[in-house]
Amino acid sequence: MLYQSLKNSQYQVNFYQAVIQGLSPDKSLYFPNTIPKISKEWIKNILKYDIQKIAFDIIYPYIENIIPSKILESIIEKTLYFPIPLKRVYNKTYVLELFHGPTLSFKDIGAKFMAGCLEYFLQKGENQQITILVATSGDTGSAVAHGFYGVSSVEVIILYPSGRVSNLQEKQLTTLGNNITALEILGTFDDCQNLVKTAFLDKTIQKKRTLTSANSINIARWLPQMFYYFLAYQQLKEKDSKIIFSVPSGNFGNLCSGMLAAKMGLPVYHFIAGTNINDTIPRFLKSGKYYPRPTHITLSNAMDISNPSNFSRIWHLYEKNLFKLQKKLSSYSFTDDNVLEAIKDVWKEYNYMLDPHGAIGYMALQEYLKYSKDSDVTGIFLETAHPIKFFDKTPKILQKNISDNQFLNKFLNKEKKSIILTNDYKKFKEWLLKK
Ligand SMILES: *Cc1c(COP(=O)(O)O)cnc(C)c1O
Repeated sequence: MLYQSLKNSQYQVNFYQAVIQGLSPDKSLYFPNTIPKISKEWIKNILKYDIQKIAFDIIYPYIENIIPSKILESIIEKTLYFPIPLKRVYNKTYVLELFHGPTLSFKDIGAKFMAGCLEYFLQKGENQQITILVATSGDTGSAVAHGFYGVSSVEVIILYPSGRVSNLQEKQLTTLGNNITALEILGTFDDCQNLVKTAFLDKTIQKKRTLTSANSINIARWLPQMFYYFLAYQQLKEKDSKIIFSVPSGNFGNLCSGMLAAKMGLPVYHFIAGTNINDTIPRFLKSGKYYPRPTHITLSNAMDISNPSNFSRIWHLYEKNLFKLQKKLSSYSFTDDNVLEAIKDVWKEYNYMLDPHGAIGYMALQEYLKYSKDSDVTGIFLETAHPIKFFDKTPKILQKNISDNQFLNKFLNKEKKSIILTNDYKKFKEWLLKK
């Protein structure tokens, strides 16, 4: 399997190169050259397979002999070590809980898988030591930090905006130590991102360190997200109905992996992308015009993105044809008020607690079903974070119902260790070169 740059199909690399490089040399995203097909027979037999086999069969054609099967099996085992349950909320509406990993967001899955791949590549000695630089508004940084914790050939440096992440998020970023360093930047998330971007282009730094990023642009973080779409299908009783996935979306990596799973042969009738008021994609699907607006801060902060990088992959998957894409994907946007209402309603009606991101997935599904003329549809929305992660954003009267103190205590009792820097690039560079 080769991967091509979405801008220029001349750039073709294998799995190893695509993972190490992250972005292609023309600063575009890598995409598989061909999409492997899963047979109808395999789908029919899915109840006979264990989680390991499902994950292995799906990912193997994307990697082939670049990672030996035994190693790939052990990477999968270390990735999928927590439950990913599909639960009925009511009738034919299900929730897929993706938050049972160490940092309570779905990003744990991609981050751990990517860490396993990089660890293997570095042990093989093709690169000795790698530095991962991540700017985070909260969830990415902690998932990457936990994924790579203890992988000695990888040094992780996380930049986060001081005072702008939740208490629990900050503890998850700053209490690990070992090969993880947290830089607390006196500035915004955009400042953090600019420092990282400038460092990637800096020749002096490149001479000293091999830098890699770890966001969903990297195929090793993006592809394994397909696993849980198949695992949801395996758990679903109504396998013959029209299955719809509703995905709360920011950078659109999660949704895009589901769409890739469907192209491989997973029977999915339709996809829905829920967004907050950063609504570039719902507007695009209506008008065919792509024009991002300035990013707004919302309660679902992991989705505060107005120019989603993975959309180019979705666009490519549907041959840059708006009509074809509209047939497979609907998209709706929601305000913070909508989110708070939904959290209250769903708790009152069904005794289920949503987080602000999952709430958008839930509402998007409801919106679609309101207009759908299809009978026999089964809807699955993705719950991408545990509600406790966004405790302070939950309506006050409901906070007492979020009880999972074992999670809280694990992080909250540890001591925060961060290095405080301003948003001045020169200082950051000085620090990075000295370290
Ligand atoms: C990152 C994140 C999202 C958005 O996922 P994308 O793949 O960027 O669309 C949604 N919810 C939570 C909780 C997240 O951390």
